[in-house]
Amino acid sequence: MNWIGQQMAWIMVSLAISLALTLWLGLWGLIPAIGIFLLISYYMRRRAMARMGMSGGGFGGMLGGGGGVNYICISCGQRFKGGACPRCGSKMKKADF
Ligand SMILES: [Zn+2]
Repeated sequence: MNWIGQQMAWIMVSLAISLALTLWLGLWGLIPAIGIFLLISYYMRRRAMARMGMSGGGFGGMLGGGGGVNYICISCGQRFKGGACPRCGSKMKKADF
């Protein structure tokens, strides 16, 4: 089973538990059901983080940076994303976090 399949299976399991609790306890079952759902999603996120840490910094950094690294052009000081400065076309840049 691949990772996305595994994640789907976990979501199904947590949904099934939530549904069972809701049917069993009525509306009050929603409170522990939401708790279990949050716990499982928290656990899955931690597992995903560990997985990305193992698979190398590139992918994890891409997700963790909130949209990628900004660069500052050394020649003209323009902030930009990607390969070359849009203002002067220089590829001389430094990373700005
Ligand atoms: Zn520039």
